[in-house]
Amino acid sequence: MWIINLLVIRFFVIVLMGINIIKNGGKVLSKVLDRISNWLFPDDFVCICCGNEISKYSRYGVCDKCMKELPFIGNSACEICGARVIADSIICTDCKRTARVFERNYSVLSYTDQAVRLIHMLKYSNARYLAKYLGNMLYDKFLLINPNIDYIIPVPIHSNRRNQRGYNQTELMLNSFVNHIDKVATDILERTIDTPNQARLTKSERKENIKGSIRVVDKLRIKGKSILLVDDVLTSGATMDECAKVLFKAGASHVIAMTLANAHIESALEEEIDD
Ligand SMILES: [Zn+2]
Ligand SMILES: [Zn+2]
Repeated sequence: MWIINLLVIRFFVIVLMGINIIKNGGKVLSKVLDRISNWLFPDDFVCICCGNEISKYSRYGVCDKCMKELPFIGNSACEICGARVIADSIICTDCKRTARVFERNYSVLSYTDQAVRLIHMLKYSNARYLAKYLGNMLYDKFLLINPNIDYIIPVPIHSNRRNQRGYNQTELMLNSFVNHIDKVATDILERTIDTPNQARLTKSERKENIKGSIRVVDKLRIKGKSILLVDDVLTSGATMDECAKVLFKAGASHVIAMTLANAHIESALEEEIDD
């Protein structure tokens, strides 16, 4: 079977890479071998959730079985925060209690099980290849809601964190927005304060924590514009609200939001996720 052949070839490539790194530490040869390895072992024939072989092309890199298990939110979503809601409710209990600054958020997945694992891999395990598939999920949702916007702005991370991680995971996902890539603006918002880890903070602590840490770099570009903010997860909404606040202050006319996952699951699970 061709996949077995690829695996054998890849094994040799990995051995060669190992020898190369041990003997020479040669960067060039490593890079070449890495390219060959990527070419021989494209990342779209195993499921990103279970690792099993996928028999046909999947835009989300997911096998049929995992596709059914992924917690897609679909139409039963809160009309404000985008969380999955039970039965006929239109606004979730959380949004009934809390006023948001952003006008509305849309999310693809509930932040449970596989979604948590995938986002953690993308953010903390350097699994950049996932950005393409998760970005495709985001983009399809975008096409579905078809918002009338001028800019698509990823929620910024502080340069310290970017240097540590090597990338902003949301920016990577936005590479999937092929026909709207010209609207993606990564230089409008800036994180000026490297805020402490948000995980384990309560809702009000998160709000305090994020306050004053984001600024609009170029206010002139924002005046009168409609903005779509994008992030990986909507947790308490504090970060999204802070971005919306500075954008409105700079003269934006509309600020809506979109996230891959949504951690508001009626009666709220206070999960642990950081920027
Ligand atoms: Zn699978
Ligand atoms: Zn809500």
